[in-house]
Amino acid sequence: MEKTIVAISTASGNGGIGIIRLSGKDTFKIIDRIFIPKNKKKEIKGYNIKYGNIVNPKNNETIDEVLVSYFVSPKSYTTEDMCEINSHGGMVVEKRILEICLENGAELAEPGEFTKRAFLNGRIDLSQAEGIIDLINSKSDMEAKESIGQLEGYLSKKIKEIKQKMLDIMVDIEVTIDYPEYDVEEVTNTKALKELTYIKEKLTSLEESFNKGKILKSGIKTVILGKPNAGKSSLLNAMLKEDRAIVSDIEGTTRDTIEEYINIEGVALKLIDTAGIRDTDNKIEKIGVEKSKKLAESADLIIAIIDNSRNIDDDDKKILDIIKDKNAIIVLNKVDINDKNEYNEKEVTNLCKPIIKISAKEEKGLDNLYKEILKLFEIHDISSNNEVLITNERHKKQINKAKENIERAINSLKDNMPVDILSIHIKEALNDLGEITGENVSENIINEIFSKFCLGK
Ligand code: GDP
Repeated sequence: MEKTIVAISTASGNGGIGIIRLSGKDTFKIIDRIFIPKNKKKEIKGYNIKYGNIVNPKNNETIDEVLVSYFVSPKSYTTEDMCEINSHGGMVVEKRILEICLENGAELAEPGEFTKRAFLNGRIDLSQAEGIIDLINSKSDMEAKESIGQLEGYLSKKIKEIKQKMLDIMVDIEVTIDYPEYDVEEVTNTKALKELTYIKEKLTSLEESFNKGKILKSGIKTVILGKPNAGKSSLLNAMLKEDRAIVSDIEGTTRDTIEEYINIEGVALKLIDTAGIRDTDNKIEKIGVEKSKKLAESADLIIAIIDNSRNIDDDDKKILDIIKDKNAIIVLNKVDINDKNEYNEKEVTNLCKPIIKISAKEEKGLDNLYKEILKLFEIHDISSNNEVLITNERHKKQINKAKENIERAINSLKDNMPVDILSIHIKEALNDLGEITGENVSENIINEIFSKFCLGK
């Protein structure tokens, strides 16, 4: 790592302070050229902050009054010599300091290059680096918590444990290969089969944890279905109005879909097609049952809303039919008008779905709805169990590949194939897992992962 890199690490725009970060072997040399500390002592200590001015050495012009933090290698984010310049916020000042760093020997960092160096220098592994991106992009408390776990190495530890088990089997196999005269093959095989079955179970449960992990990461994709005037937009507005750290988002995927996030008890609900709901002309006759079906298919959760001040009719029944085999909650709305509609209750109870009574207009009953959602997705288990969850598609793929190789190994044992074959499959599985933590991963994959970072991280 020859280059010394620099980037503005704070988000663009006006803020109280801005941070410009440098990393690499020339960091202190560059700082020495452009920074005049009030205290002239030359000594550089790690975890030290100096106060002074950034001065352009070309013309001695003072650019800003700053604090510079010093991190001496290897005790820094990247493990290299690093400095962070805390300047006054605002694009002009930050950019001028950046330019002066560039003029004095630093090179502009690529997105994620600081973290990439931390990885390449061995301070963190790849899954920890990915935890950092996820933490920055978190949309809910729960997702942030999971990312911190990954960053702290929970997943890496789990993967290492499984790899160790595989290595143990490999050692046994090597013994049988190297000392055939000891005739230990049968013992080895029985033991290996037991161990491999155990490993397969561990990998399967990690792979399955992705279902929960995905929800933490992308939010519960939720669709509100109901016939015209059932109260879809009233419910949506009531949900969005509550002060639950609303994140509104317009995603660039399809022009006419607005996705909004609401945060309930630390979990993100991603409401799909809220544009369709809000647009009052876009009633179900117009969007049609087909579109509702399609929306329902892509959802993790359907909230089917029924106007409880009227009796369920054929249009309601069409919606109830859509949710039959889906993860759904039936919401009886307008209970301020009629809270006991026996006809409706009879119609919905046999569907075996949770039923929640609300008044969207008076914003009553929403808490029960939220509780039911968390229950349905076993969210509270996630937070209390401290289990390791896979939240990353790439990790899931690698775990699946490893599982398949372990299955092959098990089959080769059962078919009495030579032990060399067994060892080939286990080695493959070891490689698959190694790609998660980044021991053996191609440069393309590394570049792709770090390109998702923001500049200055
Ligand atoms: P949508 O067509 O399903 O989006 O329904 P809206 O949310 O536009 O609601 C239709 C009508 O029902 C509006 O006049 C709302 O004010 C009314 N409404 C919605 N929810 C309630 C409720 O809980 N109680 C009462 N009394 N009226 C409601």
